[in-house]
Amino acid sequence: MKQTHTYDYLIVGSGLFGAVAAYRANKLGHKVLVVERRSHVGGNVRCEMCGEIVVHKYGPHIFHTSNREVWEFVTSLTPFHPYINSPIANYNGELFNLPFNLNTFRQLWGEDITADEARNIIEQQRRQSGITEPRNLEEQAIAMVGQDIYEKLIKGYTEKQWGRPCSELPAEIIRRLPVRFTADNNYFNDTYQGIPDGGYNVLIDRLLEGIEVRTDCDFIAERNVLMPLAEKIIYTGEIDRYFDYRLGRLEYRSLRFEDERLAQKSFQSAAVVNYTDSTTPFTRIIEHKHFDSRSRDLPYTLITREYPLEWRAEGEPYYPINNSRNAELADAYRQLAAAEERVIFGGRLAEYRYYDMHHVVEKALSLEL
Ligand code: FAD
Ligand code: UDP
Repeated sequence: MKQTHTYDYLIVGSGLFGAVAAYRANKLGHKVLVVERRSHVGGNVRCEMCGEIVVHKYGPHIFHTSNREVWEFVTSLTPFHPYINSPIANYNGELFNLPFNLNTFRQLWGEDITADEARNIIEQQRRQSGITEPRNLEEQAIAMVGQDIYEKLIKGYTEKQWGRPCSELPAEIIRRLPVRFTADNNYFNDTYQGIPDGGYNVLIDRLLEGIEVRTDCDFIAERNVLMPLAEKIIYTGEIDRYFDYRLGRLEYRSLRFEDERLAQKSFQSAAVVNYTDSTTPFTRIIEHKHFDSRSRDLPYTLITREYPLEWRAEGEPYYPINNSRNAELADAYRQLAAAEERVIFGGRLAEYRYYDMHHVVEKALSLEL
């Protein structure tokens, strides 16, 4: 006898992946239940208000993509304002533009140097290091931008962020960053870039409109009750936890956010200032009002210091750590996942991939539902 289910889809997690999947399933006429273990929806894009300032509760989120379909999808749901991310690096009080571009090279090697001279300096430093085929993040960084930038802007920041020596981290992490020989401080190369007006909650609310959502509900803890409710499950939590860690535990990096409200108009000149030395215990300070020009003149401000830490079952597992041990273990879990007929695994945690928001939206838009 065919089993009848209360829902067509049970979606575990209300982050961007879960919310886009829920939206699409609902539009296709399916009956959907979303469960979320946190007390709010939105996952890591959740925002909170501090007076009139939108605060990105789990770290600054700038939407960027070159995929027109993704951009048109998100901007059709709610208006975005343009925002170009241009963080500043602070190395023991010396300031540099990011990403690594002609402005950075001039701040480091002299304000008159040309693009070709900068290229030559980098090439000379790469040759001196003897690196030809980079095998890890340290070698990749030196090959991309030379020893000076590696020492001042990469080594300290990266080892704080990941809690591991650069020589033990994969090269892909640093390849996320553009290197340019023009004076262009845009942190991303993408065609489209912006932030939803009023923050990401508006976007998430539009995605989840008309859909049943249960917050403070942990699927793993209530699996026996929840699993029979739906024909199909879309799971966006940690992949190793779904399988009760039977092959071993994957590692994740976490963050502690320390907010400070200040009765002053401005604290720093940019939304994001990275502290790239190894002794400052935080990686960056975010000043949220700068994400939207309309909040810049308010007489108060809110800053957040970000302290990286290893994830140990407390707090949120924000970043998969793609070293070779975790990559192999994640592959083994993906094989188990492929055999779960009723369950689709998607998003940063369930795929154990260092996805940006646009990747997650793109993946959720292409799900066969
Ligand atoms: P999540 O947002 O983690 O959502 C998963 C949800 O599932 C969570 O709400 C979780 O609570 C819930 N869940 C997990 N397990 C269970 C369970 N057992 N039961 C019920 N619910 C469960 N991307 C960009 O494009 N631009 C940026 O500027 C940017 N900045 C970032 C800054 C930081 C500090 C971090 C950490 C990430 C940043 N990202 C950025 C990446 C972005 O946050 C992710 O790509 C995106 O949010 C991933 O969405 P997701 O739905 O896969 O995961
Ligand atoms: N990074 C660095 N110095 C910086 C900024 C970034 O060394 O000032 C390195 C660091 O290893 C980081 C990686 O570049 O993890 C990718 O940076 P990105 O800003 O893309 O990381 P995100 O915060 O988005 O995860």
